[in-house]
Amino acid sequence: MTTKARGAIARVPGAAVEIEEFTLDDPGPRDVVVRILASGVCHTDLGIKSGTYGTSGFPFLLGHEGAGVVEEVGSAVTRVKVGDHVMLNWRAPCGECRFCLKGEHNYCASSLHAEGKMRSESGDPLNAALGIGTFCTHTLVHEVQCVTYDSSLRPEPISLIGCGVVTGVGAALYSAKVTQGSSVAVFGCGGVGDSVIQGARIAGATTIIAVDIDPRKLEWARDFGATHTVNAGEVDPVEEVKRLTNGHGVNFSFEAVGTPEVLKQALFSRDLAGTCVLIGVPGPGPRLEMELQQFFDLGGSLTVSWYGNCIPARDFPILADWYKQGKLDLDGLVTRTIRLEETESAFDAMKRGETLRSVIVF
Ligand SMILES: [Zn+2]
Ligand SMILES: [Zn+2]
Repeated sequence: MTTKARGAIARVPGAAVEIEEFTLDDPGPRDVVVRILASGVCHTDLGIKSGTYGTSGFPFLLGHEGAGVVEEVGSAVTRVKVGDHVMLNWRAPCGECRFCLKGEHNYCASSLHAEGKMRSESGDPLNAALGIGTFCTHTLVHEVQCVTYDSSLRPEPISLIGCGVVTGVGAALYSAKVTQGSSVAVFGCGGVGDSVIQGARIAGATTIIAVDIDPRKLEWARDFGATHTVNAGEVDPVEEVKRLTNGHGVNFSFEAVGTPEVLKQALFSRDLAGTCVLIGVPGPGPRLEMELQQFFDLGGSLTVSWYGNCIPARDFPILADWYKQGKLDLDGLVTRTIRLEETESAFDAMKRGETLRSVIVF
């Protein structure tokens, strides 16, 4: 049966979102209709809406960090059933592409999404952000985009696992492979950066340096496990990270902002042979310029982390269990909860740096 829904839609790059009614096609054989309970507002949604990543593909149904309840399933769905509580993900490995065939499902080049479309009142298809769309009462996804969770857990914190949390924790555990007793510096302490801090803490890093220009963000970073904080607006962060590590620099550094300046700081905050991980999405335009010999002299590596190199079906349940055990703080990431109609105010608060996450609750 066609499902009617309501959601936040970005029609024109840079314009405010509009709350509109839309419809979901009948689910295809492996499609699932999910009633959204909660959705985090991720920085990527702001980028999509603002046209930072490009001005084509509009209109977008925004949102890609959600938790909800399965309401209807396609004829061939086996992974979930009606009534299951699910976290949604935007990398649903196909099992057949050149990466999946090598067992590198985290790089799947042909991620699965719903066969059915979501359509605005005029009948035109909406482009679901990152193939999901969660700023809405209902969404249509592929069954592999769903990972079940214990329904006794609150959906607001659980929804964040689907993007920001797995991106940060995964960057520490999988992209960098942070080791016990190691030193770490995290540049940019928003929801993703604080999740890197938590991943580093869980991996057993003993020096975790949070770097940001906002004192409030640095205070929050301590709550998630930062052992030291550096205000890059007040001191040279590279010098300060070195000072805090006996002049050596850290074993692992993370860039969670997406600018060449901050990436350079992260690169040169490393000790010899250290690993630097770029997480922040720069968008088209920014260029990195540096003296190549200086980069060579430090050795080690610079790597890019997409979605924390995660495999959602493997990793989301681990993160939900850690949350349950009190090992992973998700509640602290939920700065405020809002209604769908307040989506635009969440973007404003994000731009002002007031939130780690606004979470839309339905
Ligand atoms: Zn694949
Ligand atoms: Zn995101």
